[in-house]
Amino acid sequence: MSKQDKQCACQDTQSSFLERAFERLHLEDAEQEMLLTSFREIQVSIPVVVHKNNKDCLITYKGYRVQHNHARGPFKGGLRYHPDINMGEMRALAQLMTWKSALVEIPFGGAKGGIAVDPESLSSSELEALTKRFVQKMAPLIGVHDDIPAPDVGTNPQVMAWILDEYSKTHGFRMPVVTGKPLELGGSEGRLEATGHGVAHLANKAAVEELELDPEQSGVVIQGFGNVGFHAAMRMEAMGYRVIAISDVTGGVFSEQGISIASAQRYIQNAGHLLGMPGVEAISNDELLMLPCEILIPAALEATITCDNASRIKAQLIVEGANMPITQGADSCLQERGILIIPDLLANAGGVLTSYYEWVQNLQQFPWDRETVLTRLENRLGRSYRDVRKRATEKDVDFRTAAYELAVSRVNQAIHLRGF
Ligand code: GLU
Repeated sequence: MSKQDKQCACQDTQSSFLERAFERLHLEDAEQEMLLTSFREIQVSIPVVVHKNNKDCLITYKGYRVQHNHARGPFKGGLRYHPDINMGEMRALAQLMTWKSALVEIPFGGAKGGIAVDPESLSSSELEALTKRFVQKMAPLIGVHDDIPAPDVGTNPQVMAWILDEYSKTHGFRMPVVTGKPLELGGSEGRLEATGHGVAHLANKAAVEELELDPEQSGVVIQGFGNVGFHAAMRMEAMGYRVIAISDVTGGVFSEQGISIASAQRYIQNAGHLLGMPGVEAISNDELLMLPCEILIPAALEATITCDNASRIKAQLIVEGANMPITQGADSCLQERGILIIPDLLANAGGVLTSYYEWVQNLQQFPWDRETVLTRLENRLGRSYRDVRKRATEKDVDFRTAAYELAVSRVNQAIHLRGF
């Protein structure tokens, strides 16, 4: 899918899910407009000197931050470093953060941002310079009680540490200004694995409670082996599932008996990619999506499941590890075929939920142990799952529609209570 198509797919998908919720909730046009409109959208230029082709060159990167809605609390959402990002995509992802925070009932609004850059193309010091320049431009907008960034695709705890450092130069040491930090700088136990852990927790819940699947008899396919895919795979394997296929940007690998996730990680650490992993069959990303399996976890980028491939998917359950991996057209096709989908705003909310726990621990200056964090994470996700399931049953709708309805009505109610 081209850059342009992906941007459209993202926005169209988000709008169509929202329109359905607006209609079912009987929201007035003015309310709909308010819920759709971003509070603020900024694009900044970030000139940085980088070493390329044996010489120093000045490159001006584009940085973005979309603050969607803060009716329920400070803006919250990740920073993505990826060459293809643009304002439309950031807008759709920022909206999704608003609904996600509302669904799991944490006191945050929604935001998203990032830099159009391939982080692999820069040295560590160049990436640090780029990040710190971006923070200089964003500093008037972010803040402990204003807007709290976090990791997303292409960023990690080290990038968050640079953000903390640069922001603190002008504002004093402000640990809770960013989440997903390294443990040494106030990061939370469990934050790194939180998104994947939550995805696996809900995948297991849906598989056992809705479909009555037996973990030991169930094959799991995971698309994407970044932070979310890897930790989801580790946890599914630990719960007794057979992870039969995984993939990264270089392609996929398959084994009917199940892939050892620790071996795959070791192989990637040495080779830099999955391609060529011994003892498994190489498959394409498209073949991976079509594999006969019980559970499919798309954990790569947006719009990987489209009208072109949805009709050939054989999984009984899809758990959205990534944000917006299924386009609106594909969603209708999968629903018609009776495939159960646990939507992104619920499935991958473990990340922002644990960001909230990190923020709380920082504000209280009182760190929790890993078990406390993960138990709270599982309990809270379990509660949101039950809320969504209850509404889906009562209103006779799918999980995504129920989740959007709950989230949108909570945000709308907050706006009304605060007044205009
Ligand atoms: N980037 C993650 C997401 O899309 C986490 C955001 C956060 O922790 O603020 O949910």
